[in-house]
Amino acid sequence: MNREEARKKIEQLTEIINYHNKLYYTDDNPEIEDYEYDKLFRELENLEIEFPELKKDESPTNKVGGTILEKFEKFEHSIAMYSLSNVMNEEEFWDFDNRMKKELNEDNIKYTVENKFDGLALELIYEEGKLTAAGTRGDGQIGENVTNNVKMMSNVPKKIKEKNKLIIRGEALITKKDFEALNKEREELEEIPFANARNAAAGGLRQLDSSESKKRRLKFFAYQIANYRDFNLTNEYKAMEFLSDLGFTVEGVHGNIDSKKVLDIYYDIQENRSKIDYDIDGLVIKVDDVKYQEKLGFLSRAPRFAAAFKFKPEEKETILKNIEVQVGRTGALTPVAKLEPVQVGGVTVSNVTLHNPNEIKSKDIRIGDTVVVIRSGDVIPKITRVVLEKRPPDSKIFEFPNKCPVCKGDTAVTDGDVIVRCINEECPSKITKYIEYFVSKPAMNMDGIGKEWIAAFTKSGLVKTPADLYKITKEKLFEFERMGEKLAGNMLKSIEDSKNTTLKRFIYALGMRQVGETTADLLAKYFTSIENFRKADIEDLQNIEGIGEVSAKSIYDFLNSEKASKLIDDLLEAGVNPIFEKLAAEESPITGKNVVITGSIEGFTRTSAKEAAERLGASVQSSVSKNTDILIVGEKSGSKLKKAQDLGIEIILADEFIKLANK
Ligand code: NAD
Repeated sequence: MNREEARKKIEQLTEIINYHNKLYYTDDNPEIEDYEYDKLFRELENLEIEFPELKKDESPTNKVGGTILEKFEKFEHSIAMYSLSNVMNEEEFWDFDNRMKKELNEDNIKYTVENKFDGLALELIYEEGKLTAAGTRGDGQIGENVTNNVKMMSNVPKKIKEKNKLIIRGEALITKKDFEALNKEREELEEIPFANARNAAAGGLRQLDSSESKKRRLKFFAYQIANYRDFNLTNEYKAMEFLSDLGFTVEGVHGNIDSKKVLDIYYDIQENRSKIDYDIDGLVIKVDDVKYQEKLGFLSRAPRFAAAFKFKPEEKETILKNIEVQVGRTGALTPVAKLEPVQVGGVTVSNVTLHNPNEIKSKDIRIGDTVVVIRSGDVIPKITRVVLEKRPPDSKIFEFPNKCPVCKGDTAVTDGDVIVRCINEECPSKITKYIEYFVSKPAMNMDGIGKEWIAAFTKSGLVKTPADLYKITKEKLFEFERMGEKLAGNMLKSIEDSKNTTLKRFIYALGMRQVGETTADLLAKYFTSIENFRKADIEDLQNIEGIGEVSAKSIYDFLNSEKASKLIDDLLEAGVNPIFEKLAAEESPITGKNVVITGSIEGFTRTSAKEAAERLGASVQSSVSKNTDILIVGEKSGSKLKKAQDLGIEIILADEFIKLANK
């Protein structure tokens, strides 16, 4: 490439990278996968190395992150936050290792290897043992003040025993399990699911309304003490131990190891990362000795003493055989790609949602194409691109239907979103999907009625609204082929049993946009009866911690619609009796407490014990500290018990915990 070509290419790449930076850092809504971005970035870096005179000061390779959101107060970092340089393969790893050895004039360098958490960087400040401020990384100098949102994060200690000022850094993440639950809820509400946990976490942390932020169930994983000098910490891994002892979540640290061991760990974790309950996109290798770190120093964008050793995403090619459009409960038309089944990350993938017409257009996906499938964040399968070289001459452009494929009714795109919805209130698909939702487990829980029967009932016109379910008689059921005595009996029993229900289930079953199980629970707790709920005014709704403005407005509009009045009247008239039930969790002795679990507990793994405690409203810490309230003690408990006894911390034995968890 000559100089002029390089200049043009650098300009072009800079523009493209800046465009993706804005989407990623500011809007939390990237268009391309990280590894595609990394390739562009690397291309720019290489050109700038080859033609150093063409490198501009404002090049993205000189900068950390992107612009910050204006809606937040600014958060100034007293010590700059950096990004990391990437190491993409083994060869580059050895280059890095050799560079370290050469610059330090030392043959046997010890590293600390940590998980590279794929979330959003965060700084927390503690003064006099209290969490006083928290901010995002932003451009490394100035981030966004998100203190209120961070205080909502369940595993962030609000108080610590260390009284000196402590500035720590870490990553805000959503675990895979929480992410799946979040997306499941969005799917049930027919909202576009989050593309990956990183975007959901970054978007969640940058909400003005802390209760909206809390809903994302963010967790904080600590990885650095910025003012380590104030604590006489000589090694990276010792700093991590110090943080863990203070009650922070610290995971995946392998301290004081040589370069060969780094590689072993890298391959092992790359292979087994799907078993970790949160996304990591690589490992971070850091020279362990702090003296050496200081000697190596920083480049403009990243430290010299550390590197992100990125994992390769697992991707597979397969043929897209067809695109089908499904119509959901709220009328959302969702295109689904039907694939030649393919194994990705340990599961067989044959259906992949394409979300909306824009996705098909922007990726230029055609029927017959060979497509690349990955499991985004190792969970949700996703089509990342089309292999254009393999496009067959007879590939077909998919025409998105302009009428509902089921009822042939009109469709519309509402609320500035990208989802096309069928607007026919009587669309059989909408009715069937709504009845399925109404009888489902978290709603009215009529487990005696399977999906195929719901389809038969709605098709025949026997059931047009949920209230019609309560009018079904045995005689009517016997008009259906294959209906037997036992089946009919089970169905009628589960319909009858559902009449005695909880307020939470009833509210959830109404099927309001924006109201998933969590919100239904908040509404039930706040209003305590259906009569009160029906009278809710907008201020009431906005008052509820956990319900944002948009949800409040949408709930209010629903309650004041004729459709809702009739639906609720008809259900109450049919004998449905929603009762407000206090949750057991409110009475649990560990609710609202900081607990640590030690030793093994019969019937629980480490993770499931932690989850059970969290369900009971406890905040689970990894190590005992002064701000621990309760230690739950299982078999073969080690030093934690002694420490807790020394500190006079309350002890709960495994048996009692099992009882609480199984209540
Ligand atoms: P990075 O994510 O590659 O690495 C730096 C960050 O890693 C740190 O700021 C920190 O937040 C995080 N980190 C996680 N675990 C850590 C640990 N144990 N120790 C230290 N740091 C740890 O860099 P970045 O500047 O945040 O973002 C660049 C990356 O973001 C790119 O490589 C790309 O993958 C992605 N990106 C993607 C797009 C896109 O459009 N898809 C756009 C911009 C950036």
